[in-house]
Order: sequence, then C-alpha cells, then structure tokens
Amino acid sequence: MIYLDNAATTRLRPEVLQIMLPYMEEEYGNASGGYALARSAHGALDRAREQLKNAIHAKKTREIFFTSGGTESDNWAIKGIAYANRQKGRHIITSAIEHHAVLETCGFLQKEGFEITYLRPGKDGIISLDAVREAVRPDTILISIMWANNEMGAINPIGQIGKFARQQGICFHTDAVQAAGHLSINVEQENIDLLSISAHKFHGPKGVGALYVREGLKLENLINGGAQERGKRSGTENVPAIVGLGEAIHLAVQELPKEAERIMKLRDHMIKRILNEIPNARINGSTINRLPGNVNVSLPGIRSEIILFKMDMAGIACSGGSACTAGAIGKSHVLTAMELEEERVSSAIRFSFGLYTTLEEIDQTVEQLKNIAFLKN
Ligand SMILES: *Cc1c(COP(=O)(O)O)cnc(C)c1O
Repeated sequence: MIYLDNAATTRLRPEVLQIMLPYMEEEYGNASGGYALARSAHGALDRAREQLKNAIHAKKTREIFFTSGGTESDNWAIKGIAYANRQKGRHIITSAIEHHAVLETCGFLQKEGFEITYLRPGKDGIISLDAVREAVRPDTILISIMWANNEMGAINPIGQIGKFARQQGICFHTDAVQAAGHLSINVEQENIDLLSISAHKFHGPKGVGALYVREGLKLENLINGGAQERGKRSGTENVPAIVGLGEAIHLAVQELPKEAERIMKLRDHMIKRILNEIPNARINGSTINRLPGNVNVSLPGIRSEIILFKMDMAGIACSGGSACTAGAIGKSHVLTAMELEEERVSSAIRFSFGLYTTLEEIDQTVEQLKNIAFLKN
C-alpha cells in the first residue's frame, strides 16, 4: 500500500507510541488527585505543555490548553471569542476556503445573529492581506484565517494578517492544523492570539489537540465541568494522548528543517513529472507558497471518483480534496472558491506526503496517474 493521504491523518510514530504506553498501563492516575500516581500524570501534562509551548514559541505554558483535536480547538476559539465580545460587535471575518470545523462554526454563529464575511482567495488559493483589510468594520471582533489549506496546500500571509489585526485591535485566530509540525510557527512574531493544533496531522495520536490562547485574552468556555485546564476546559485529561501530542510535536519541530526539505523535493519532483508527462494535467494552488507535502492535481475530463477508484485498485491511498464523511466526494468548496473551471474542480485529487513517504512511492504513483490519464488502466 502506498499511503499519500497524510493531510487526512498520519501514522502514529513508534517512538510516540512507546512514550504513551506507560500512561495506558501502570501510570493510570487522574491528574487532579493528591497522591504520587496523580502527580506523575500531572507531571506528564506539564512536560507536554512545555513541549508544545516551545514548538510554537509561546511565552508561557499557561497559554496552552489541551482539547480533543482540531475541530474542538476551532469551535472553542471562534465561539469563545464571539460570546466573550458580543457586546463589542458581531462581525467576524473568515475565508471561504477554511476547514468545515471553522465554516460550520461560523454558520452556527450566523444563526445566532453574528455576521460573517467569507473572503475569497486568489486563483493561487491564497487569502491576501488586502482582502482582509477591505473587510474590516468598526464592529469586527475576530479574524479567523487558516495558516495553510488542507486541500491544495496554499500558505496564507499569516504574519502580515497578524500584524494588521494587532494594529486594528482585532483578535486573530488561525487554524494551524496543517501547518503545525510542517512549517515553523512563532505566535509572538506573527502576532497570533489563538491557534489550533491537532496531533494526528503530525504522526501523533487521534482525538487530541491544543488551543493556544494569548495570555489576558477573554475567551468564553465551550466545555464546563470539573474545572480542569485551569477552569477553561473541563473533563479528565486524556493523559496518554496528551503525552503523545507533546512528543510528536517535539520530534516534528526538531526534524523540521531537514524533513521539510526532503518532502519538498518529493513534491517538486512529482509536480515536475506530472506536468512533463501528462500534458493536460493542471496543478491547483500556489506552487510558491505551498505546504511541503501537498500535490493537488486535476486531470480534466476524468472525474475525481474514477481517478480515486483506480488509484485504490492500484493500492494507492489519496483523496478527492477534503476528506468528507463516509468517503463521499462533494464538489470542493475550496477549488470552487478559487473560481477554477468546473472541469478542473470535478477532476481534482490530492496527494499528501508524510514521514514515511519515499521517492519510489512517488514514482509509482506518477506511473499509475499516467495509466489513468491515458486510459490504459
Ligand atoms: C484535520 C483538520 C482539522 C480537524 O482536526 P481534527 O483533529 O481531525 O478534528 C481542522 N482544520 C484543518 C485545516 C484540518 O486539516
């Protein structure tokens, strides 16, 4: 099997699993207890928080809150800011190419009386600072723009948007689920107020993530209960998963410069071969500001479902853009927002690379893509 769907999820690293295992066996304490076993669990949470703080260059560990993943972090950031600031204003700026965790949250708030502006990207899939600037109103309380897009890999000018938001005194959230562990992140330098992370996108476990919340920011709770996470996110902590998150981000950041270069070479090799060998193929999304491990390609005239089916028959796992429920392929809201031709939208597929992707796998995949393009298979 060739696995090229790392933007959907990644394989858990064996080193990460090893570090998690004791917390599923003998170190089973509830981190809130007042005895040695509990202190051990609590210490493990402290270490993971420190690892995450260092990975994103936050100032303090108290700015890191553990969650159940990217979806919860996005929901919390957006609803939490909206509810804490509804007296100040009701306008939120986001983009039309966000993950559903952001889009559906904004849609929910819209029904509650908030007004949402959905910015359109350029043809290259990038949201410009100008677009953000033009959308700002006196009652804007939040700007939420993703760091990098999960479908076509375009990287947004987060530093510019952060600087602008700070100057305007508007809160800035970024869904960094595709960026964390793959691009270097510095929340101080980029003027980020809230940042969402998910462990299973960088070879950590599923069902765990984090929300960075700048110190002093007013954020309403999403989950109430026994006052874990300093009263901001209740529920007994998933200690093994959080330990895995900490170790996975630590390893990813440590290896990032070398690994990003290796993956980027694979990406550029694949794009070059596709363009040279399949004349009518089109690459979607910026080829300059692009995630190291993303190739999104259209074969106009052949539907995504057909390409995916034939890839699957050849033992290659890839996806038709965003991973929808039950593998259903809807028309990509991302490629549609980029105003690409209908033919290109309906024939797009995404390959996303990870730690275990090799050059041989890429070459085999290009061969299979050629078979499909020239109807040999
Ligand atoms: C995967 C993903 C999410 C959702 O994260 P989960 O941990 O799976 O809930 C949110 N945003 C982006 C950009 C993603 O790629």
